[in-house]
Amino acid sequence: MKTDLPTQQSPSLADLNFDNRFVRELPADQNYSNHVRQVERACFSYVQPTPVVAPQLVAYSHEVATLLDLDQPTCESDLFVQVFAGNQLSPGMEPYACCYGGHQFGNWAGQLGDGRAINLGEIVNHLGARWALQLKGAGPTPYSRRADGLAVLRSSVREFLCSEAMHHLGVPTTRALSLILTGEQVTRDMFYDGHPKQEPGAVVCRVAPSFTRFGSFQIFTSRNEIDQLRQLVDYTICTDFSHLGEPSVVVYLKWFEEICRKTAAMIVHWMRVGFVHGVMNTDNMSILGLTIDYGPYGWLEDYNPDWTPNTTDAQGRRYRFGNQPQIALWNLAQLANAIYPLIEQTEPLEEALQLYGFCYKQGWQEMMAQKLGLKQFEPEYDLPLTAELEKVLLLVETDMTIFYRKLADLDLVDGQDNDNLLAPLLDAYYQPEELTEKNKQQICDWLRTYLKRVGQDGHRNVERRQQMNAVNPKYVLRNYLAQIAIDKSEAGDHSLVNDLLQVMRDPYAEQPENEEFAQKRPDWARHRAGCSMLSCSS
Ligand code: AMP
Ligand code: MG
Repeated sequence: MKTDLPTQQSPSLADLNFDNRFVRELPADQNYSNHVRQVERACFSYVQPTPVVAPQLVAYSHEVATLLDLDQPTCESDLFVQVFAGNQLSPGMEPYACCYGGHQFGNWAGQLGDGRAINLGEIVNHLGARWALQLKGAGPTPYSRRADGLAVLRSSVREFLCSEAMHHLGVPTTRALSLILTGEQVTRDMFYDGHPKQEPGAVVCRVAPSFTRFGSFQIFTSRNEIDQLRQLVDYTICTDFSHLGEPSVVVYLKWFEEICRKTAAMIVHWMRVGFVHGVMNTDNMSILGLTIDYGPYGWLEDYNPDWTPNTTDAQGRRYRFGNQPQIALWNLAQLANAIYPLIEQTEPLEEALQLYGFCYKQGWQEMMAQKLGLKQFEPEYDLPLTAELEKVLLLVETDMTIFYRKLADLDLVDGQDNDNLLAPLLDAYYQPEELTEKNKQQICDWLRTYLKRVGQDGHRNVERRQQMNAVNPKYVLRNYLAQIAIDKSEAGDHSLVNDLLQVMRDPYAEQPENEEFAQKRPDWARHRAGCSMLSCSS
């Protein structure tokens, strides 16, 4: 191991129990210099974070700190800031960057790798849980290609807040421990249109059981490095899928099936909360079915399956909201190709891919039943019911989050006219005055069919409301809210980052004092950069 940075003792940080199994058991790059190159027959390269001039803590997640056995005074200490900005190593840390490849926008892109992520090691906490720590934006690595290895505050706020918001929403995700300003400026051309700007640099410390991606396997197969492929597959099974048993062809297949199931479950959650990842390249697909790599993601405001926040994808809209289930399947098929050399049978791999379709359909139906407050999804009634709902949501601009939340408040009252029936939902419409009588009739026809279905289902209204409010969030990290927090943070006021973190801790609760964070997108944000338009530049 190569360690250039000083190490220093502090009661809690020094007591962290590092057990760096990844670097101990997997093949390392034998070249220790930090220059851009193709790295063959290795899972990772040892590399040091680049020190920064004036690190400053913006925010940290005390929940993630607890996972790592870190207490509040430690997180608020200067040493914490130094360590998680990459200026200093804690005892036991062995920094490295991973090698992986990937398909970007449907095309094989060759070696990608951790171009600006540097792993610090793995902590085994007092409960025996294993957590890998990774700094994003901590300087160049052998995988940085033509880029600088850095991250700006804007994208770091987005990654930090969204990781934690997704966790509290019950969506599988990588986590974020800390958000630290580096005190240095970074140049970015946000829309790649010849307008570079200086922006504040930042580092986020991400935390997950593993950061292995589909592309981590693809890179080996693409180079015909089958021994290394087997090593990484066996390692992944032994560490993160040990319940499947000792690696063998049968276990490889069970493993792939489980990845298909987990990926389907993750996508169902995205569809439930209205999350659009924005860059579902195979290097951004976690082998654990976690949401990973928060870049130009976005949250549906008005319900629109064709929407993508990513301007880089504006032409083909490959990663639009409604296409995410298909893209996950396409990505799983690439993973199947990657592990094929270990299995050498296509049929069981194809069956597993079909299992994905089955799990997704099943999961989606259960999720929709939950969202609508039904005991269970009865295809006979609920396929037409949900198909018509989709049409109703598309009639005029309808805020998805507010619509589902308010739907729980509706009651079936005999003889109620359209305006009265619709009243509790009006807040969900961006231009309620644009609703024509014909629109209102179509919406109310659906509402009456829905309420009749609810009545037949036999749920009491209180129970239905509880069920619905437990899966239909009141608070999501609305695109414009994150942008306001970024604007303030760039001006030196980090309070909104911390306020949003706090609100997103309890997204299903009413929180009357935080009503302002549940408001639909204001008009100024409709076409503003960062609110509705994002790019891969971060
Ligand atoms: P992404 O689209 O963010 O998932 O990134 C794709 C690839 O580009 C990954 O290998 C990243 O590590 C790398 N990358 C993205 N931004 C940078 C950067 N600023 N410096 C170095 N590598 C980067
Ligand atoms: Mg990525």
